[in-house]
Amino acid sequence: MKIGFIGLGIMGKPMARNLARAGHTVVGFSRTRASIDAVADAGVRAGASVADVASGADVVITMLPDGPDVAAVARGEAGLLAAARAGTLWIDMSTIDPALAAALAAEARAVGVRSLDAPVSGGDTGAIAGTLAIMVGGERADFDAALPVLEALGRAVIYIGPAGHGQSAKLCNQVVGALTLLAVSEGLVLAERSGVDAAAVLRAVSAGAAASWMLEHLGPRMLAGDFRAGFFVDLQLKDLRLVADQARRAATPLPGAALVEQLFRAVSAAGGGRLGTQALITALRRLAAAPDPIE
Ligand code: NAD
Repeated sequence: MKIGFIGLGIMGKPMARNLARAGHTVVGFSRTRASIDAVADAGVRAGASVADVASGADVVITMLPDGPDVAAVARGEAGLLAAARAGTLWIDMSTIDPALAAALAAEARAVGVRSLDAPVSGGDTGAIAGTLAIMVGGERADFDAALPVLEALGRAVIYIGPAGHGQSAKLCNQVVGALTLLAVSEGLVLAERSGVDAAAVLRAVSAGAAASWMLEHLGPRMLAGDFRAGFFVDLQLKDLRLVADQARRAATPLPGAALVEQLFRAVSAAGGGRLGTQALITALRRLAAAPDPIE
């Protein structure tokens, strides 16, 4: 298939590469030329603009930071909805507000463009390995048509329900993920403060009932003081804001999600917005007045 890919960041770059390696013709576009050039190694061709990429594609994928970015790329005279041919399938894989996703799906339908919301979980490592979990909202027939594309990106491609429901599923994922990360941070800070060998604790806990993706992938980085981003703290804060909005709409108390949002805000306020989410442990270390090995 001919695939247009818009948004070549931490996630978009490896995803576009995997699509090209799976044999699709991929044309990429992103805000900076350097990001477009970075995926040329895998055979991703350089697009000149959003409209250029969207006009010639069977499938257009967007992987952008937030809802306003997706809306800006989709709408307007130079937007993807104006440029795409009727029948084009647009798959937005960014994490955005479910209500906005449903509204954009209706706008797409009005101009003859089919669309899916298909946010992902699995981190940058999952994007590189092509093992993402993909949660899909939209028409079932469009999901079936998208499967050959999505299967090049993930190992679990799951139909959730109508437009917006993929995003709602992703917000549930973010509650579980963020609170697991808080649990990992607290466990490791307690190990550090107790004067036990934190690396040995990490190995032992990883082999037991408290094992998790967060512990396995981000625990070692916490202990090593490696805060390079796989997922930016500021994007995690964006997701927790979307979670809070959804919880308010659903009249659902989520005390844990509210707490972890405050702690991520503390990391961002201290200048850590572009660090990876494993920097959550720095907020706990500061609360314990413990010296941070990185400082
Ligand atoms: P990122 O900031 O690294 O990438 C976003 C890219 O979009 C950047 O290259 C940016 O230049 C580009 N962009 C922004 N506005 C644009 C525009 N108007 N036109 C063209 N390009 C534009 O972020 P990321 O980590 O790749 O995340 C992308 C999405 O995936 C976010 O919604 C995020 O919440 C979600 N997500 C990220 C992870 C992760 O681990 N990083 C995991 C799951 C989901």
